[in-house]
Amino acid sequence: MDKPKIFITRRLPEEVIDPYKSKFDIEMWPEEQEPVTRDVLLQKSSTCEGLLTMLGDKVDEELIQQSKNLSIVANMAVGYDNVDVPLAEKHKIAVTNTPDVLTETTADLAFSLLMATARRLLEANQFIKENNWNHWAPLMLVGSDIHHKTIGIVGMGRIGEAVARRAKGFNMNVLYHNRSRKPEAEEEIGAEFVSFDTLLEQADYVVCLTPLTDETKYLFNKEAFRKMKDTAFFINVSRGATMDETALQEAIVDKEIAGAGLDVFENEPIDAAHPLLGLPEVICSPHIGSATKETRYKMMCMSLDNLVHHFEGKPLISPVT
Ligand code: NAP
Repeated sequence: MDKPKIFITRRLPEEVIDPYKSKFDIEMWPEEQEPVTRDVLLQKSSTCEGLLTMLGDKVDEELIQQSKNLSIVANMAVGYDNVDVPLAEKHKIAVTNTPDVLTETTADLAFSLLMATARRLLEANQFIKENNWNHWAPLMLVGSDIHHKTIGIVGMGRIGEAVARRAKGFNMNVLYHNRSRKPEAEEEIGAEFVSFDTLLEQADYVVCLTPLTDETKYLFNKEAFRKMKDTAFFINVSRGATMDETALQEAIVDKEIAGAGLDVFENEPIDAAHPLLGLPEVICSPHIGSATKETRYKMMCMSLDNLVHHFEGKPLISPVT
């Protein structure tokens, strides 16, 4: 019997792919850094049976309509806002993601951004590099305390809870907001469920960890930033379009909030000309929430294992619906 034809939209390490070669006829975009072009993605998906996609690959109506043999999209991310899931379902195309394996790693990055922003670590680094460290001074590069402050987590899911556990280690007071309450998080972590507005008003650190959906698009807008304390920081490790970047920039310039730590942006990649990068109160990273070697390898294997399960008729490891 012919092996199922798989297209992988980015070059993954041979050592990861090798064990799967006996199961699939694998084709792979040859670049690790550069994303697959839209033309090639459309052309390959029109003939393959399985796609292994990255978060920047749009699996939309155009692609789905012309992919007559496609029966599964294994997205190498926990977020799947790049895939039109209802349409895929309608076309009997399964969609999988990579939950759990990246939870702790992404929480580490979220907390790193929070700490780096509060304690002005990048400014401090730059300060020495620019030869400005001539004396010690009582108020030189003073930042904000983290311990015993209030963190407000919007999107208390897997990663949100992992961030809350870190916050507890710093003796922080933990508030959270979701559409539904999580009694186990309240009991285990001591997190307090509050309304979105209360969270904005009370938190010293507002951390966004919701998925990007129609409901969460631009959730953090002018009004939201206005409700935050002028000493508070905004940390976003979810998806860029959950925030209005212009409103965020204005809120920082107008001193309505103290700063931001951002791993995600509405239109990625951003370049050095992005207005938020010009603000000393903002620390940015290039969507590296899950970027440790251990975790990325697990995400690759989980995506490939989902493909194996699908084509062997076994239950999927992590279907999105
Ligand atoms: P998860 O377990 O599904 O958690 C998401 C949480 O958001 C849920 O608790 C959900 O609770 C809440 N939520 C959903 N819609 C909401 C809304 N409208 N208002 C308030 N809360 C809402 O997902 P996860 O594994 O923690 O991942 C969260 C997101 O992080 C992913 O979707 C992805 O976009 C992002 N992420 C980014 C990186 C990175 O590299 N920066 C890495 C991994 C993940 P309710 O359903 O009760 O509302």
